Amino acid sequence: MAQKFAALAPFRSLTWEDLETWAGSKTVERGRSYWHGGQVRALARTREGRIVAWVQGDERYATRVERREGLLASACTCPIGWACKHAVAVILECLDHMAEDRSIPLAVPKDPRLELLKDKEPARKTAGETARKTRRTATAETESRPRPAAARAGR
Ligand SMILES: [Zn+2]
Repeated sequence: MAQKFAALAPFRSLTWEDLETWAGSKTVERGRSYWHGGQVRALARTREGRIVAWVQGDERYATRVERREGLLASACTCPIGWACKHAVAVILECLDHMAEDRSIPLAVPKDPRLELLKDKEPARKTAGETARKTRRTATAETESRPRPAAARAGR
């Protein structure tokens, strides 16, 4: 039984808080309604523990998610590209399958979703985004902080 989801075990410990930290609460809410609406289709897994699915929105998007060393990563053909509502919906569908002990079929080697997403490296992109965000925050803080030298000169 447990063997069936061995590669997906990292998803098991996922909490709502993890999802919200990753994608933001609004995206989680939207993903949840996509999932509730049955918009996740043809869920499949890879041997490496990645999950792929089609998610039907305004268009049909290919979405891939994984969780490594406690970190979520995703790739999607939608304009957002990662940590999107489609990825959240796919994660929820995966968790639902695991909770109900429904098997998730293994994706075929040339699965069209994997083909569409093969050039998207989620881990790198996630790291880049985080670094950029950190830099932006640091810059904003520096700029909004009063400059001691200028204040002293004015006195
Ligand atoms: Zn998406």
